[in-house]
Amino acid sequence: MLTRSCSRLFLLYLAAALFSTGSSRAQSALATVRIAVDLRDAPKHIFHAKLEFPVNPGPLTLVYPKWIQGEHAPTGPIVDLTGLKMQAAGKEVAWRRDDVDMYAFHLEIPSGADTLQVELDYLSPPDTSNGSRETPAATAQIAVLDWYLVTLYPQGAKTDDLTYVASLRLPAGWKYGTALPVASGNADTVEFAPASLTTLLDSPVITGAYFRTIDLAPGQKPEHFIHIAADGPAALYASPAEVMHLRQLVAETGALFGARHYRRYDFLLSLSDTMAPDGVEHHESSDNRTPEALFLDPEVRETQTDLLAHEFTHSWNGKYRRPIGLVASDYQTPLKGDLLWVYEGLTQYLGVMLSARSGFWTPEQLREYLAATAAYLNDWPGRTWRDLQDTAISSQILYGASGAGAARRRSIDYYDESTLIWLEADTIIRRETRGKKSLDDFCRKFHGGENSGPKVVPYTFEDVVAGMNEVAPYDWWAFFAERLRSHGPGAPLGGLENAGWKLVFTETPNEHDKADEIVNQIDHLGFSLGFDVHAPGGDQSDRILDVIPGSPADLAGLAPGMHLVGVNGRKWSPELLHNAIELAKTSKEPIELLVENADYFKTCRINYHGGERYPHLEAIKGKSDVLAEIARMKAAPVSVPGSY
Ligand SMILES: [Zn+2]
Repeated sequence: MLTRSCSRLFLLYLAAALFSTGSSRAQSALATVRIAVDLRDAPKHIFHAKLEFPVNPGPLTLVYPKWIQGEHAPTGPIVDLTGLKMQAAGKEVAWRRDDVDMYAFHLEIPSGADTLQVELDYLSPPDTSNGSRETPAATAQIAVLDWYLVTLYPQGAKTDDLTYVASLRLPAGWKYGTALPVASGNADTVEFAPASLTTLLDSPVITGAYFRTIDLAPGQKPEHFIHIAADGPAALYASPAEVMHLRQLVAETGALFGARHYRRYDFLLSLSDTMAPDGVEHHESSDNRTPEALFLDPEVRETQTDLLAHEFTHSWNGKYRRPIGLVASDYQTPLKGDLLWVYEGLTQYLGVMLSARSGFWTPEQLREYLAATAAYLNDWPGRTWRDLQDTAISSQILYGASGAGAARRRSIDYYDESTLIWLEADTIIRRETRGKKSLDDFCRKFHGGENSGPKVVPYTFEDVVAGMNEVAPYDWWAFFAERLRSHGPGAPLGGLENAGWKLVFTETPNEHDKADEIVNQIDHLGFSLGFDVHAPGGDQSDRILDVIPGSPADLAGLAPGMHLVGVNGRKWSPELLHNAIELAKTSKEPIELLVENADYFKTCRINYHGGERYPHLEAIKGKSDVLAEIARMKAAPVSVPGSY
């Protein structure tokens, strides 16, 4: 680690070495850039930044990161880059945006100048109401600094070759956490050690007024920490049981992969109802955002159970091993998502199973989650026109898609459907090897190896097939190709069946879906009447979220975007609607729903008499419970003392 004065000396040395060559043409890709970010206005939703580029006189093009790793899409929020001003040799330098590439700025460095000063601001959205993928990076009490929000770099440079020296000014009294190595710091300002632009953009910083750091692997190397920032102090309280599960998660990844590819791992966790729930993976950290009551409300916890395990798993599957199409030397090169069913899909499967192995979920809770997932995939007809492969290729447009029409459009199913597919693959390995091997063996070979710092080892479809064959010879090429190109009907449920379980429907609500209904204020009626509706109250009050094509509601004329007004002649409420479903079981009369469609009212008569229907898993008689074996704790159990 470099001290502050050392890093400055290093900068001067490097700049002198670079410019003694006298090259007047292209700006060197090896230049060290200084970036100073000021977050004191973060509660006002503005991040200020100043950058200093060592330059040569002549033309220069600077670019703003466009393709954001982990988001699988060109989502760099260029529209909110503001206040861009440049100066060299004491004079303003004019810039002109490229006419076609909105992320590129052309300028001319005047003769005699050796440094370009750039000022810019990033406007973080104040709330989630703009409907885009760009969501608040700051609240009144929390800020998450993704460096790409405030960074420019020379066009054409490889981000591995660029060195940035960053500093950060914090609001008074705020604490911070990050995987980016620190050189020095005081209460208000942090000076970071020089890092490649790749590492800088892969190392966000979480900071906040209400802040807590917990050691998740005391006395062990590499170190693991969780840094929690919350909108209020009460939300910071993680119970000893929660901490124990997190520590078990660290142990379980060791048991699963057998090696780690980071110097230290930092979970960044924002607890806020203003930020959108989200998670973005990084090599040595993860940016996790959940509702404020994660540690206080069991319903919130249920909807977020596998988040931390999922993002952590990405350090191996996504960051270390990465599909060849998602490896790029800069942030302007388009990314290809065709293997996201491995990158995200295997991560989803492992995240779910690691959550169970770590104790976040009981076996019953895991089954309810899997039932809810399998049921909607099995029911929605989007697959009849769009295969799973196309959902992965379309990732760059699907993340921003509306929930309206999701059953017809099909969305980012390479997460959930791949959970079923990798479960099936896991059970096939176990069957073919008579229980001697499992998907864990594939992970250990494919993602483990030697302990190392962060590095990227790309793979292809063929590499995945070869890796699976090393563990258990089978026609994996045909297996995956069929799952990727199938048009159904119905989801691949073979894995559940091999694991000893079948999908059934009863009148008892699914526990996982019920938590989602409470947290997100939605009434799920997809498996009975065939639609989901936003509960009364809130921004989306009474709005029909989606209607399942071919369902009783669809046949009766309901459509997404309509507003539910009445049930059997009376102003609707969720209770009234569920009573009507119950009464219709013993009646020949249709359920009458009054809906509003853009100022026009219509009565829809739904001929449905099947009662409430919710998905669950039921044990198949005579089959052993392979699912329980997969979800069983594999590492030695950790313990947490009463205080930590
Ligand atoms: Zn992911």
